[in-house]
Amino acid sequence: MKLQGDTIIVATRNKGKIAEFSHAFVPFGKTVKSMFDYPDLPDVVEDGETFFDNAFKKAKTVGDALGLPVLADDSGLCVDALNGAPGVYSARYAGGHGADDANNLKLLEELEKLRLGEDTEQPLLSPARFVCVLVLYDPITGEHVEAEGTVEGLITSEPSGAGGFGYDPLFYLPDHEKTMAELTLEEKQAVSHRGDALRQLVDKLKEGQD
Ligand code: IMP
Repeated sequence: MKLQGDTIIVATRNKGKIAEFSHAFVPFGKTVKSMFDYPDLPDVVEDGETFFDNAFKKAKTVGDALGLPVLADDSGLCVDALNGAPGVYSARYAGGHGADDANNLKLLEELEKLRLGEDTEQPLLSPARFVCVLVLYDPITGEHVEAEGTVEGLITSEPSGAGGFGYDPLFYLPDHEKTMAELTLEEKQAVSHRGDALRQLVDKLKEGQD
């Protein structure tokens, strides 16, 4: 599959993701369009059991509706102590879709419950990873290309930083001694699950052109 034209359509209304994709595609000379550019398209219900199921459904539904290739991202946070939760439910962990502050509060509450009776003077540093699955779907050929990226970190009870979105202020990267929300867009792109998945997707597209 080839990434033709100077526009890439991303099946999302998440402003944090749109900012990251817009930045990531600058070196490829591509402008990112999102679902805000196609307001008449209905939201895709994310009822899959895996990140891939949801990403594929978003890319195919929007791609078929527009008759154009579409890139979709399904991503989330998987916390070991919570058996991988919130996982595919990351956006609506606290109820409403994409309520970042409420989701972060619920995450800390769930982790604090596990620490009842323990020495909570110790800082919370609970192993977790962000996962991002990208699917690029072409409705003309019915082909798709997929890639999965991850980044390991620790959930901290000390939220910090104003960058990024979602769980970024709670996601601590020991190597950087910063949370994901304290990184610049460039730094986040270099380490994040989304940056990792994008680099793999671009490599696969290049291989396909050989
Ligand atoms: P989706 O729209 O179902 O893929 O929801 C993704 C959700 O996962 C977001 O609403 C965030 O809560 C979380 N998430 C995904 N990627 C990131 C990230 O890069 N930083 C912080 N939170 C993220």
